[in-house]
Amino acid sequence: MANFSQQRAALVKQLISEGIIRSDKVKNALMRVPREDFVPSNYREWAYVDSPLPIGHGQTISAPHMVALMTELLDPEPGDIVLEVGTGSGYQAAVLAEIVAKNSSLKRGHVYTVERIPELAEFAKENLRRTNYIDYVTVVVGDGTKGYLGAAPYDKIIVTAAAPSIPQPLIEQLKPSGRMIIPVGDLYYQRLLVVSKRTDGLLDVREDTWCVFVPLIGEYGWRSQY
Ligand code: SAM
Repeated sequence: MANFSQQRAALVKQLISEGIIRSDKVKNALMRVPREDFVPSNYREWAYVDSPLPIGHGQTISAPHMVALMTELLDPEPGDIVLEVGTGSGYQAAVLAEIVAKNSSLKRGHVYTVERIPELAEFAKENLRRTNYIDYVTVVVGDGTKGYLGAAPYDKIIVTAAAPSIPQPLIEQLKPSGRMIIPVGDLYYQRLLVVSKRTDGLLDVREDTWCVFVPLIGEYGWRSQY
């Protein structure tokens, strides 16, 4: 029988030694969220291999190092209102909720997450319910390239699917001084962009690592997968 807590601790230690986890808040969040409860049951024993895993409908839960890196770059703070585009399994949303809402004694933040495939939104909700994150995360079914006006503007926006360019609605729904992390490129490789919105509304964009994500499909993304 797998000892998931030990495997989780070993993976977090590895990500720290690789310089990917740099802050206590990301370390603590990855230590607390049980990734084995966000993968399909037949993949549970691989939950702590540092790799993406299939979650059905041609989609994946991102590799732990990518979740850790994107969370470090996003720099969520307790009290932040965060938008995630691409709910998938709900794991990244739970990691963010752990930092902005669940473990915060300050003003409580919240994570809004949008998923275009209704069955995956249900899968994520069930995972978030089972792990007690559901009170801190709102899962919305829809085209996340249009953002989610219901709770805009956001302190932070994270996009976990590959975009051809930064969707204009997401720029509009980001607060001044807000930050967005988004993979932008073609359908095969992308560059992780760190986008900071200045108080005058202009954007500072910094390119971080190369990465490979499934496509962001929607009105301001790719029109289809192929
Ligand atoms: N963050 C997820 C997790 O923690 O499991 C992994 C996300 S997976 C790599 C990308 C997800 O983006 C898929 O579930 C896909 O259906 C979703 N997606 C693609 N285009 C979308 C869109 N326009 N709006 C919302 N979700 C979208």
